[in-house]
Amino acid sequence: MKVQFVYPAFERHANSHPELLEHVPCNEYLGGPSLGIASIAAVTPPWAEVAFQDDRVHPLTSSVQADLYAFSFFTPAATRAFELADMLRAEGRKVVAGGIFPTMMPEVASKHFDAIVIGEGEGVWPALLDDFRKGELKPRYQETEPFDLTQLPPPRIDLYVNAESPDLHPDDYPLQISRGCPLECDACVVPCSMGKKLRLVPREQSRQALADLAKFGKLAAVTEDTSFFFFSGARRHLKTFLEDLREDPRPRGGKISYIGISMPMILSLDPELLKLASEAGIDRFYLVCGFDPITRDAFGKGDPAAMDRAIQSVLRCHDFGIEPYTSLLVGNDTDDEHVFDRILDFTVKARVPKTEFAIFTPYPGTPAWNRLQAEGRIFDTEWKHYNDANVVFRPRQMSPERLLEGYLSLWREFYKDKKHLSSLEHGQKTIQF
Ligand code: SF4
Repeated sequence: MKVQFVYPAFERHANSHPELLEHVPCNEYLGGPSLGIASIAAVTPPWAEVAFQDDRVHPLTSSVQADLYAFSFFTPAATRAFELADMLRAEGRKVVAGGIFPTMMPEVASKHFDAIVIGEGEGVWPALLDDFRKGELKPRYQETEPFDLTQLPPPRIDLYVNAESPDLHPDDYPLQISRGCPLECDACVVPCSMGKKLRLVPREQSRQALADLAKFGKLAAVTEDTSFFFFSGARRHLKTFLEDLREDPRPRGGKISYIGISMPMILSLDPELLKLASEAGIDRFYLVCGFDPITRDAFGKGDPAAMDRAIQSVLRCHDFGIEPYTSLLVGNDTDDEHVFDRILDFTVKARVPKTEFAIFTPYPGTPAWNRLQAEGRIFDTEWKHYNDANVVFRPRQMSPERLLEGYLSLWREFYKDKKHLSSLEHGQKTIQF
């Protein structure tokens, strides 16, 4: 029996707004697929043959033959996932799905798939396959308990690497060191999709994942912008991960592409841990802004003390030789029309070298989604527009049109005097847009 895993395509910022390509003098960053499929493939029973297709790299067509098609996707990819699933089902093929969107919007996803998996899939996937083999596929599969991470086999990154094309291939793939988060940031899907308990991936498994990435010549992208640093046990976990990374003999810049973090976290870290991060070879923090009180007060309200803390957090990265690659969000309820000027002013004062800009997006299932739905402020449920580059809701303090124009002007203004970035060495000039 052959299972064809599919990672459906979605629109990046520059796909939604091609004019950005004229203004941003960097190559577009192609991140690896999320770990979902690699992790599910790793718990697939040996009697099932598995194959993987990244629809962004090789668009899926009906010529790809399999007994069962298994999709994993988040909200921006839902439009394409439904298009592909409908195409396959019209030809009589069986299609199942899991991931963040089916977990958050099971009623919507169910209309397009023969079965959906809600929540973490590792525990129920073997049973789903067994049911399919017996012709007894159920419409829904849901684990009642979070998966025990000590039982997690290494993700099948080999499937991803084998699906690359010479022209389109990620330099890094995600490496997971935790799941879940006890905090509840307004627009974040992590607590809703992975649970509110912070669970740590055992050290040996992270080491193995690092070794696997090294084997394929790939960097690790530690994507969790989690509450790690607020909890002492989690800080110890991060410290052991960084110590393992420091032991990795690959040169600086050759083992990890970035680690996700926030300004409050940077300010709360002791210098020893930041020094260790730098010694471990981390030369970029993916600094997510707009979710935390510092950035909301600094950019939205123009609070001078918060602005000072925002600047200090970026300067602290510079002090340790770590590039602060900021992701600056606009459209929070606290943002008035001055937010764009405040953000540009901040990038100058904090010496931000490169950045991306994002539009606040109420992802299904998040507290923001529930709140804005209740307030009747969501006017667009075309899922491909949920990619941080489109306005899908009515902002509180400006029109949707003003928010979109402000977002585009941020890209234009920030990069207008940075043409030199296009002359950087390969690997240094990629950016997420
Ligand atoms: S943004 Fe980070 S800290 Fe906040 S809920 Fe999400 S994972 Fe947790």
